[in-house]
Amino acid sequence: MAEFNVLPDGVSAEDFGNAIEEFAAIVGDENVFVAADNLSSYNKIMIPADSDDHAASGALAPASTEEVQAIIGVCDKYIIPVWPISTGKNFGYGSAAAATRGQLILDLRRMNKIIEVDAELGTALIEPGVTYKQLKDYLVENEIPLWLSPPAPSALVSPVGNAVDRGVGYTPYGDNFFMSCGMEVVLADGQVLRTGMGSMPNSTSWQVFKWGYGPSLDGIFTQSNYGIVTKLGMWLMPQPPAFKAFVIRFPDDADIERAVEILRPLRINQIIPNAVVIAHALWEGGAEVVRSDYYQGEGSISDEAVETMKSDLGMGAWNIYAGLYGTPDQIELNWNIVKGAFEGSGAIIQEEEDMVGNASFEYRAKLMRGEMTLKEFGLYNWRGGGGSAWFAPVAQAKGPEALSQMELAKEILGKYGFDYVAEYIIGWREGHHIIDLLFDKTNAEETAKAGQCFDELLREFSERGWGSYRTNIAYMDKVADTFGPVKKDVNQRIKRALDPKGIIAPGKSGIYT
Ligand SMILES: Cc1cc2nc3c(=O)[nH]c(=O)nc-3n(C[C@H](O)[C@H](O)[C@H](O)COP(=O)(O)OP(=O)(O)OC[C@H]3O[C@@H](n4cnc5c(N)ncnc54)[C@H](O)[C@@H]3O)c2cc1C
Repeated sequence: MAEFNVLPDGVSAEDFGNAIEEFAAIVGDENVFVAADNLSSYNKIMIPADSDDHAASGALAPASTEEVQAIIGVCDKYIIPVWPISTGKNFGYGSAAAATRGQLILDLRRMNKIIEVDAELGTALIEPGVTYKQLKDYLVENEIPLWLSPPAPSALVSPVGNAVDRGVGYTPYGDNFFMSCGMEVVLADGQVLRTGMGSMPNSTSWQVFKWGYGPSLDGIFTQSNYGIVTKLGMWLMPQPPAFKAFVIRFPDDADIERAVEILRPLRINQIIPNAVVIAHALWEGGAEVVRSDYYQGEGSISDEAVETMKSDLGMGAWNIYAGLYGTPDQIELNWNIVKGAFEGSGAIIQEEEDMVGNASFEYRAKLMRGEMTLKEFGLYNWRGGGGSAWFAPVAQAKGPEALSQMELAKEILGKYGFDYVAEYIIGWREGHHIIDLLFDKTNAEETAKAGQCFDELLREFSERGWGSYRTNIAYMDKVADTFGPVKKDVNQRIKRALDPKGIIAPGKSGIYT
């Protein structure tokens, strides 16, 4: 009998061996991974948690919806849990690893067909393994003037993975789930559901009308474990005739209050239509330089060191990256409104022509026009050691709240010796406050501190009513608890109705059977 390093909970080695043979008959031997060497990429996590607690029992790479259905049948027979990933690059949230030990990773990267792009309607229907780069290349090769809205790791990652985890990009289509339309989902009983208009045979409007008829279901398949998304419809933004990127820099940390107050009406009224980033100096600097060039002392980086870095790199404490889209006339009109709004605020306004050769500006401008860049991975050189966990509370788009969140985060991070490497991404009426808790994962003491720090951030923020929009695999239960017992109970009841044996991704978002 084959030996396995990790087994699914409650499954004998013999049963697991039999299941593996059945999986191999579905996807082929070469697409079944159980040897430790072949699983290392699925087990490597950056968060402050023990990778053993999240180790996979194996991984499977199916090539079609039918293969996913057949796999689910075997999982049901042996009660083996599967954790679906699209491209598995959920860095800082758990990468490709599952919430609990012993799950089988269902790696959908081979399902990478671009099924349809409708250039007139600006829609696409794709499989989970399609990357932003692949889709971008397709649009360019076929001379289709539509833009994508990738998250910062752009080229490497999947529009499906990003949308189902409710991630964000930086064009006016920045909220990727909001801009999705229609899903195909394999359920735990092996049935295939098409959401929205897609349930109707021969529907012509699956990718153009979200709501269909009756209860709208798409949302329950995001950040959840109610099904495996095997196709996703997307709305793509028509390439505008003109685009203008700019940055507005405020000198002091406390200026976040003013920045958000000025920005909010511009966003709500769609003068600035894109998902705006307000990047703190340590995020800006973190993607550019290394910490040790400015600070070698104990604890979090000193204010003096930050000031030196800001002046060396010509940054503000807060740096607003935004874009204008439309005809040249529309842009000129809106640009005058934007400039007028910031006049007298003490901010410095810089346009694209002032920023030629500025690496931070160039990567932000690329993201705001939906192009590929990996520049933001520079953040991992800031402190070194490969540890990262995103703490991602939501703030209402009001200056005093943004300021209070910043002050609280800085205080807690400072207590543990970490830096406030953060940005606000301003959606319509809120800010995703994205804080990268960077630490040295090779240092056990620092990793333990990072865990304690994350706990305290979560506790203190939720006590003030500031909930997380997304979290990593080690904190899913804790974040679920912050949303209260009724939400948890309803989540659980839906799970039991759709997946009574708990086959799909137990523990995702704190949901079990
Ligand atoms: C430097 C840096 C910058 C980043 N910037 C951003 C950013 O700007 N915006 C942002 O949103 N994120 C950002 N991230 C986080 C992350 O890398 C991206 O969100 C990325 O898109 C997620 O990886 P993926 O697309 O491979 O998704 P996956 O890892 O494949 O999926 C994410 C999760 O969704 C679920 N899932 C995936 N596919 C399916 C499916 N088919 N059916 C059911 N459930 C599924 C799984 O639980 C999975 O764990 C950043 C990370 C780094 C390191």
